[in-house]
Amino acid sequence: MMKAVYKADRSKGIEIRELPEPVISDNEVLIKVRSAAVCGSDIHLYNWNDWCDNVHAKNPIIIGHEFCGEVVDVGSNVSLVKTGDLVAGETHIPCGTCMLCRTGKQHICQDMKIVGVHTDGAFAQYTKIPEICAYKLPADTPHDIGAIYEPFTIAVHGVLKDKIGGCSTAIFGCGPIGLFAVNVASVCGASPVFAIDINDYRLKIAQKLSDNVIALNPHRDKIVEIVKDKTKGYGADVVIELAGSPEATRMGFELLRKSGRICIIGLHSREVSLDFVNNITYKEATVYGVTGREMFESWYQAENLMQSGKINVKDVLTHEFPLEETEKAILTAQEGKCGKAIIKIS
Ligand SMILES: [Zn+2]
Ligand SMILES: [Zn+2]
Repeated sequence: MMKAVYKADRSKGIEIRELPEPVISDNEVLIKVRSAAVCGSDIHLYNWNDWCDNVHAKNPIIIGHEFCGEVVDVGSNVSLVKTGDLVAGETHIPCGTCMLCRTGKQHICQDMKIVGVHTDGAFAQYTKIPEICAYKLPADTPHDIGAIYEPFTIAVHGVLKDKIGGCSTAIFGCGPIGLFAVNVASVCGASPVFAIDINDYRLKIAQKLSDNVIALNPHRDKIVEIVKDKTKGYGADVVIELAGSPEATRMGFELLRKSGRICIIGLHSREVSLDFVNNITYKEATVYGVTGREMFESWYQAENLMQSGKINVKDVLTHEFPLEETEKAILTAQEGKCGKAIIKIS
């Protein structure tokens, strides 16, 4: 038996339960989870709001999908990893046979399942994933760092989607992925990097990540004016939207320079009205939707960046909780008075 964070039904909340350990099939990997991290989607699942219905989330289910752990058993067909390897989990489970999977776009597979949303997840002492979703980490990776590879790779995907070196870059939303994006953009040569959020606690973390970060709060600062002023009146070369806010998105388009690119990563819970003619057509703006990670290019890039010694993840990992206090971790993340909340499991 094992301890796991269990979402029994649609009512608000979670519980810690003793459940049987997962049983693997020939193509699966059994993992003893070392560390996990709380994601925005865990907050949605905790509250069971519209997002859960929109993605057809399942219950009952063990939640949690950002994790790393040690391989303790592998199915008979598995050759990618072996017992004893430290692995992180790719959350998107691809079908492997659809047109998207067969054309290098497994991360947006037509029939994709998500760990901890559609299949039992990682806030547990043990979890299982298909072999294809196991990414072997350097053995000396600290477990809290291993646990945030998954969200870190989303930032890597968005920032490195197109040219970034030497580009002025405005990042809206300084939650954990936004902070990772600020960090990755700076390390990859973006400058200046405007970090924009209404949460001063998180802006303080952003400011710590690099000297060329300009932290701005729309409640206080005239964002569009400041960005244009610092970019000779042209606007930012690159905008990364992680706030999931219509206001932030409109502001992002407004301060994007002509021929600039904007990545929309944040999940908007409302429709966004936007003046297309002035913000996209006349600007010749390039708009990228970004979800998850390129499988597995973003993972290799993330590992190289982590190994470079130039990435500062430590300042983003502000809180740590034992598995038994996962509810507290989720509520702390929901409140926003934290960077990334880590759950230490074994
Ligand atoms: Zn996540
Ligand atoms: Zn597929």
